[in-house]
Formats: sequence, C-alpha cells, structure tokens
Amino acid sequence: MRKTKRYIAECYEILGATPETPVEEIKRAFKKIIMRHHPDTREAHERGAYEEASKIYIDAYKTVTDEEFMAKVRGLESGTLGKNQECYCGSERKYKQCCGK
Ligand SMILES: [Zn+2]
Repeated sequence: MRKTKRYIAECYEILGATPETPVEEIKRAFKKIIMRHHPDTREAHERGAYEEASKIYIDAYKTVTDEEFMAKVRGLESGTLGKNQECYCGSERKYKQCCGK
C-alpha cells in the first residue's frame, strides 16, 4: 500500500482525526476503536472479518503517528523541504509530479 496524499487523508478520516489533532488524542481514539474491533471480543466465526477491520485501523494509526514519515509529509506539503524532493509515498517520483500535483 502506497502512502499517498489520499491514503493519509483517509487514515485521518477513519480515526476521526485531522492533521491538527494532537497525537495523544489520536492514540486515545485509536484505543477505543481497537477495543470495539478486537477479535477476542467476538465469536470465533466472526473473527476473520474483525481482524481485517482492525488491520485497516492499525495501518492508519501507524501511518499518522510515524513521526519521521509525517515530518516528511508536512515538510513537502508546506514547501519547507522543496517540491523537487522524492515523494513520501514511495513512487520514486518528485513530490511536485506526484502527490504534490
Ligand atoms: Zn506521491
């Protein structure tokens, strides 16, 4: 899964957060969501579906709380890193020709 601009926006959305939400708050929201989706709270036959759902939230949480990655995202989006740098999504294209278009 490439971490494109669109994907990052979706991550915030499913966590009920925005890029301005403090990490502590995202952490709390994530814990609540995960408790609700935790496979151990479900009947055995339902577990597969819940594990799938949990994975989406876990990936979203890991993405938006990855400080190094998000610093690059913010740097490129704000322009402080320069738009000619390689895009954060891993496409090997320059930011301005990729997620920065
Ligand atoms: Zn990109």
